[in-house]
Amino acid sequence: GGNAAVVATAALARSKRRRGKAKPMPEDQAVYPAKDLCSRCGFCNTSLVGRVQEACAFLGDGMARLDQLEERVHGRQRNLEDEMELYFGVTVEDGVVPLQVLPEQRPAQRAWTGLVTSMACALLAAGRVDAVLCVASAAESPKKRLEPRPILARTVEEVLKCGGVKPMLSPNLLPLEELWQVRGEDIKRLLFIGVGCQVQALRSVEEDLGLDELYVLGTNCVDNPRDSEALQRFLRSASETPETAVGFEFMQDNRIHVKHADGRYEQIPVFALKEPENCTGVIAKSCYACFDYVNALTDLTVGYMAAPWQGGRMTEHQQYCVVRNQKGQQMLDLLAEKLDVGQASSLVPNGWSLPRSQLVPSVLSPELDLAFGRRRRREPPPRWLAELLSDVVTALGPRGVEFAKGSIDRAALRNLVCLEVDLLRQRAGPGRELEEILPRHAKVIRARYHELLQEMLEKYQG
Ligand code: FAD
Ligand code: SF4
Ligand code: SF4
Repeated sequence: GGNAAVVATAALARSKRRRGKAKPMPEDQAVYPAKDLCSRCGFCNTSLVGRVQEACAFLGDGMARLDQLEERVHGRQRNLEDEMELYFGVTVEDGVVPLQVLPEQRPAQRAWTGLVTSMACALLAAGRVDAVLCVASAAESPKKRLEPRPILARTVEEVLKCGGVKPMLSPNLLPLEELWQVRGEDIKRLLFIGVGCQVQALRSVEEDLGLDELYVLGTNCVDNPRDSEALQRFLRSASETPETAVGFEFMQDNRIHVKHADGRYEQIPVFALKEPENCTGVIAKSCYACFDYVNALTDLTVGYMAAPWQGGRMTEHQQYCVVRNQKGQQMLDLLAEKLDVGQASSLVPNGWSLPRSQLVPSVLSPELDLAFGRRRRREPPPRWLAELLSDVVTALGPRGVEFAKGSIDRAALRNLVCLEVDLLRQRAGPGRELEEILPRHAKVIRARYHELLQEMLEKYQG
């Protein structure tokens, strides 16, 4: 009604005032405030750039602000005594849900079963939001299909075209500028889709976005390639035909599944990457300073790594979501009839497996070699042996929730070593102490692996 319109216009006016006169940085800006650690999240390409110190996940106390932001967004911080919340962040009761989009309902273009895309379409179709901020492809050619172009989608058709991961840094906050400059009067309620570092920047200035309603839907995220060149370098190492790759994922069978434009799948044991040393520098530096794998500030996060392993193709495989608050629950409820929801108990694997604390050390060292560009002393094993190793680790190793926790441990520990040894002191500048930039959950993980960390620090400090 008229009253709502007055309120909305007031929100927009206030947002304009708070943004002030700061000039957005051009997209081809060479150096951003967070320098090497910048994840090119797009924030600095908006007129909110003046507030970069408080919003950027890599400046000042950076990701340590997740703790306070959790409280602001969800009403409380995660309960570190609860093993699920320690790893997956704030959830509503029974909020970690294994699920997939029903086969006949799956969008054609998708990463897994298209849960994110379907949820976004449902919100738009139900009139809950006026637009969805999501990531389109830069162009249709196979190579450009993997390059991100964040957009404000106004129709279901536009959202459908954004299915699938564009595996590299993406300036997801950039379209906000277009929203304010051109579409402010039409878009008052927005669904933002993004990864942790983008969502942190967004949440930090949520009050000043000039919106009446904001929904935030996200995915897990780790180890994102820096740019197109980096992605191609990785694909050359993983695939026989990198030029036709349209998606890839590290799967619970310890293989990289590469999806090709002609529908073909390659499955490469993680132990069989060609010339892995060529992959040094592929992962963006920001991702070596990231402690928000599970995207803690969303209303609902989607991922695959905690889902019970079923084998087969990723586009047919179960996913899971973490419902963090009421808005997240609303989003899930809206999609209910298109979903096959599994038993929460299936997330916890039954049967014996190696505890993850025994596997983490053996994956940490090769990862750190990669991070620091150290050459392997040994040649990679022959393919048959690499296949066998993947099979053995899959058969004995942790599954479901334990696999996910192992992945989170691995990324957190690697990043702790990287920051301590090199990145932070050398590149992020003096005055940033590791202690001050760690969210609480990272400190708990650090304490759990104290001895391993000391060993790794000694090895890589030299
Ligand atoms: P879809 O329906 O295909 O929708 C994908 C959505 O992702 C689209 O809406 C699009 O807007 C958005 N998107 C695409 N590219 C980007 C980008 N570069 N930045 C921000 N948003 C983007 N899950 C895990 O469980 N473990 C992992 O280790 C893991 N690593 C990931 C790494 C990256 C870089 C990304 C982007 C995602 C990662 N995910 C991970 C999430 C997982 O790959 C799927 O995105 C998730 O399971 C959703 O699948 P879907 O079929 O529901 O998504
Ligand atoms: Fe700016 Fe985002 Fe880069 Fe931080 S990460 S410097 S907010 S563009
Ligand atoms: Fe951002 Fe972290 Fe993902 Fe890197 S791993 S793109 S820093 S959320």
